[in-house]
Amino acid sequence: PRRPNETETGGSRLVVLAGPTAVGKGTVAGYIREHYPEVLLSVSATTRAPRPGEIDGTTYFFLSDEQFDAMIEAGQFLEWATVHNAYRYGTPRAPIEAALAEGRSVLLEIDIQGARQVREAFPEAKLVFLLPPTWDELVRRLTGRGTEGPEEQARRLETAKVELAAQEEFDATVVNTDVPEAAREVVDLMTA
Ligand code: 5GP
Repeated sequence: PRRPNETETGGSRLVVLAGPTAVGKGTVAGYIREHYPEVLLSVSATTRAPRPGEIDGTTYFFLSDEQFDAMIEAGQFLEWATVHNAYRYGTPRAPIEAALAEGRSVLLEIDIQGARQVREAFPEAKLVFLLPPTWDELVRRLTGRGTEGPEEQARRLETAKVELAAQEEFDATVVNTDVPEAAREVVDLMTA
């Protein structure tokens, strides 16, 4: 299917927010959802199980492996990837194309492999890399979150080291020292 060009979308943008694990992508994206309702925050599909408090259809669409396979087969993902060598995550294509066609800005909070795929599918997408203030702060955030066991934490730190190097490929970087400020910078990049 043909995708809307910049003129048809009224200059709105597709912005991808990526960055190393535990940098606070989810928090910044959540802040944008709450304070900038004009921006559509894409809801991803995943094969991982819900954590306490996560709501199907809001946090993620929680799918079985079979359901995820079916969406791949039907070409319903803009991108998808296996993250942390564990579960699959993907961006449903239809809501994004609809929002862009309506002239809305769209924000994707996805991993770096996904960001690279979006660049292929939508060359005009803006890729934003969220950075921690320091490496030590990233380690502190990762271990402090308490949602992963020690093995999973070690695995994610390894991933984070590799991921930090990917910032070179991005169009812009935003340092996440203060969430409202980082959110404002990301939103500003949608209209810049
Ligand atoms: P979590 O399981 O902690 O919610 O997310 C793990 C990782 O999956 C995060 O790095 C997040 O950015 C990434 N992720 C979430 N949704 C998507 C998606 O639709 N596509 C890709 N490629 N990565 C995603």
